[in-house]
Amino acid sequence: MHQDGLRVEGVALAGIAARFGTPCYVYSRAALTAAYAGYRDALQAHGLADRSLICYAVKANSNLAILNLFARLGAGFDIVSAGELARVLAAGGSPEKIVFSGVGKSRAEMRAALEAGIHCFNVESASELDHLNEVAGSLGRRAPVSLRVNPDVDARTHPYISTGLKSAKFGVAIADAFDIYRRAASLPHIAVKGIDCHIGSQLLDPAPAAEAADKVLALVDRLAAAGIVLEHIDLGGGMGIQYRADEPAPATTDYLAPMLAKLAGRREKLVFEPGRSLVGNAGLLLTRVDVLKPGEEKHFAVVDAAMNDLMRPALYDAWHDIVKVGADDTATGAAMSYEIVGPVCESGDFLGHDRLLALREGDLLAILSAGAYGMAMASNYNTRPRAAEVMVDGGSVHLIRRREEIAELFALESVLP
Ligand SMILES: *Cc1c(COP(=O)(O)O)cnc(C)c1O
Repeated sequence: MHQDGLRVEGVALAGIAARFGTPCYVYSRAALTAAYAGYRDALQAHGLADRSLICYAVKANSNLAILNLFARLGAGFDIVSAGELARVLAAGGSPEKIVFSGVGKSRAEMRAALEAGIHCFNVESASELDHLNEVAGSLGRRAPVSLRVNPDVDARTHPYISTGLKSAKFGVAIADAFDIYRRAASLPHIAVKGIDCHIGSQLLDPAPAAEAADKVLALVDRLAAAGIVLEHIDLGGGMGIQYRADEPAPATTDYLAPMLAKLAGRREKLVFEPGRSLVGNAGLLLTRVDVLKPGEEKHFAVVDAAMNDLMRPALYDAWHDIVKVGADDTATGAAMSYEIVGPVCESGDFLGHDRLLALREGDLLAILSAGAYGMAMASNYNTRPRAAEVMVDGGSVHLIRRREEIAELFALESVLP
C-alpha cells in the first residue's frame, strides 16, 4: 500500500473521497477494458472471435460512460427494457448489435426496438411471439427472433439468480421449443434468426453452461433437419467473479473453454451476454465510517453507504470484501470484529458481517467488487440521494454521474390542491 493508501490505477481513493464525497462508486477503465479483452482472447483462442458478438448485459451497470466504453471496444448490448434501449443509443451503441431479452416486453417496447432496428428479440413465450408478430405487422416489418429456451440445467447458484430450471419463469421449455419454432417460421412478420439460452448468474463451475450448450446444439441440429436453419446461437451470460479473497473464480478462458470447444466446428454466429463478469471487479464503493458503536454482543461500524446504495448483501446475503483505504498508522487501535452497517432503518441494512478491522470514525472503507448490480440496483429508500460515480482512467478521474441532490428526490411529486 502507498503512503496515501489504496489506489485505483494511479489515483488515491482518499483524494477521490475528498473531491467527490462519499458514498461514491469508483470504476477503473483499465479493468473494464481488461475484462472485455478476456472474452475476446478466449474467443480468439478457439478461432471464434470473427463470428462472435459480445453483448454486454446492460442491467449489470447501465451508466452511459460504461456503455460508451464497451461500444468503443466493439461490444453489442443485451437489453431488457425500452429504457435500456434508450441508454444504449444515447451512449453511442449500434442498434444492429442489440439483443432484447426479458419475459415481459410491452408492445410499446417492441415497437421502439423494431424502429431502432435491433439485431434480435430473445422471445420468451409463445404469446410474446404473437404480440411481436402483430406489432411488426403494424409497422410493415419482420421482427428478427431467437427463442430463449430453458434447458432445465441446474446452474447451482443462488436461487434468486438461477434461471435455467424448469420451474423458472424464464424462456420456453426446451421440449416445447421445436413446435414454437415451427409456428414462428409460419408467422408472416417474424424472421427466425437464432436461439438463446441463459441459465443463471454468478456461475463458477463451467459444467452447467457446457451442458446447456449441448442441449441447445442438439435442438439447433434437429431444427436444421426440419428446414429451420438458424444463423446464430446466443449462449447468454452468467460467468461468476471473485468476491472473496479466499474464493477465486475461474479465469474467463478456463470458464469458457468447455463451452467454446463444442462450438468450434460449427457455422453459426455466436452471441454472448456477459454482465457481471465485465464490470463486477472493475468497481468499488467508497464509504466513510460515520459512527463506531460498541455493543455487548457486536460492535457496529455505521458507514455512509447503505442497502439503498448496494443492495446485494441485504438481497442475497452476498459477500463483498471490505478493506481500509488509509495506510495503517500507530493511532489505530487493535483490529476487532465489526458489523459494517448503513444508516437505513432496517435490520437487513448491512454491507458486511463480522469483519476484522481496526477502525476510527472518519476512516474510509472500500467495498470491493461492487461494479455489477451495485449502482444499477440503487434506490432512494429513506430519501437518500444516490451516490456519485466516477471513472478512473490512468492518472485522471472523471465524474460519470453526479451525486443526486435532495430536492431532486421529490421534484416529481405534488401535494393535493
Ligand atoms: C442478467 C442477464 C444476463 C447477464 O448475466 P450476468 O450474470 O450478469 O453475466 C445475460 N442475459 C440475460 C437474459 C440476463 O437476464
